[in-house]
Amino acid sequence: MGKFDEAGKEKETLNLLTSTQTIIHDAIIELGFNQDMYHLLKEPLKTLQVRIPVRMDDGSTKIFTGYRAQHNDALGPTMGGVRFHHQLKEDDIKALSMWMSLKCGIADLPFGGGKGGVICNPRTMSFGELERLSRGYVRAISQIVGPTKDIPAPDMYTNSQIMSWMMDEYSRLRQFDSPGFITGKPLVLGGSEGREKAGAKGVTICIEEAVKRSGIRLKGARVIVQGFGNAGSFIAKLMHEAGAYIVGISDVYGALYDPDGLNIEYLLSRRDSFGTVTTLFEGAISNQELLEQDCDILVPAATSNQITVENAGNIKAKLIVEAANGPTSLEATKVLTERGVLIVPDVLAGAGGVTVSYFEWVQNKQGYYWSPEEITEKLRNRIVKSFNEIYDLAQNRQINMRLAAYIVGIRKMAEASIYRGWI
Ligand code: NAD
Repeated sequence: MGKFDEAGKEKETLNLLTSTQTIIHDAIIELGFNQDMYHLLKEPLKTLQVRIPVRMDDGSTKIFTGYRAQHNDALGPTMGGVRFHHQLKEDDIKALSMWMSLKCGIADLPFGGGKGGVICNPRTMSFGELERLSRGYVRAISQIVGPTKDIPAPDMYTNSQIMSWMMDEYSRLRQFDSPGFITGKPLVLGGSEGREKAGAKGVTICIEEAVKRSGIRLKGARVIVQGFGNAGSFIAKLMHEAGAYIVGISDVYGALYDPDGLNIEYLLSRRDSFGTVTTLFEGAISNQELLEQDCDILVPAATSNQITVENAGNIKAKLIVEAANGPTSLEATKVLTERGVLIVPDVLAGAGGVTVSYFEWVQNKQGYYWSPEEITEKLRNRIVKSFNEIYDLAQNRQINMRLAAYIVGIRKMAEASIYRGWI
């Protein structure tokens, strides 16, 4: 299951809601829509709160609170993950459903954004308790979800086993097999090849496209990757295989930097399952120092709010590709853009996961499954197309790629809302 830093998560969601609304507002103005459109899109159309009784192993019954938010279904069903976390708040889920709408729009998927979650601490729960909670959550939200309504997926602290229980529960309720109800399933239950690494793969495709536009050659480029977890380690590995020098990496405890390139294979072999490796070495520097070291490409892949007005002026990278959610503040985006640094925004770089969720849903619908090569090719085609569209829009309008990505992310949804007569 996924892991994350508690304080980082708090900041991430706070930042996410306000910054998402701010840029949606700017994008609506750029698109020429009125304030009514902003009021439609600034919050989800539907948010359901449920209470889920679960029999615990000691015989007691505990009541858990869960949510499912559906941002906008003008383009089709909503889609997005379910997270299990003890500090979950309704606002987190609302903001994350809006974020999913943007990613769906950017990848040109026939979906709106959805998100769900349950307030619980899965680390303290047994396998059996987790199964009963997962099934209870599906029963509680069953009226508003389904393969043609709203499709859940894995997110923080949920995984393919939890998706399997949820799919089974939904299929039992409906009395027919419904693999298309949920994505992120194991292959034997109709999961898709390449789903697990799709998010990180999308980031690396964006890096490959962005270097072409920045006059950087990937072979020999000096890359700093902040965060050495699932995303960061995979990105560092792929960049190393593409001939780049990984000159810096970090985890929550500190950072390693070597201008001649780190021994990335060795570091990958020594990292633990929490993405920690720097504690094994002397001479580590801080994460903040790492961000300001000399490099060509900086990939923040740890947590939010890492690049702010305080350090934006000291960043040496010519290209920043955001693997983490919200690593760069809006003010820092402005400073860096004025300095000529190209920033590939999180909503574009992170669109790989939902794109392969869409592929899983399509495969479930047709009952015919694609090879890993086909998935990779289809993912690459979509991300490259989205990248080019957003890059070109940013160039033509003389705006940064973040605003351009939001424009692309909401455009079709806004148009569909007008055609439907909602505005
Ligand atoms: P993870 O928990 O596996 O790893 C997080 C890494 O960041 C660890 O090395 C951890 O030590 C480090 N870290 C945590 N807090 C930090 C801090 N305050 N300062 C510096 N380092 C810190 O998480 P992950 O799955 O790699 O996800 C990281 C980010 O990338 C998230 O925002 C996630 O949404 C995004 N992302 C994940 C994937 C994926 O495939 N898992 C793909 C694309 C993007």
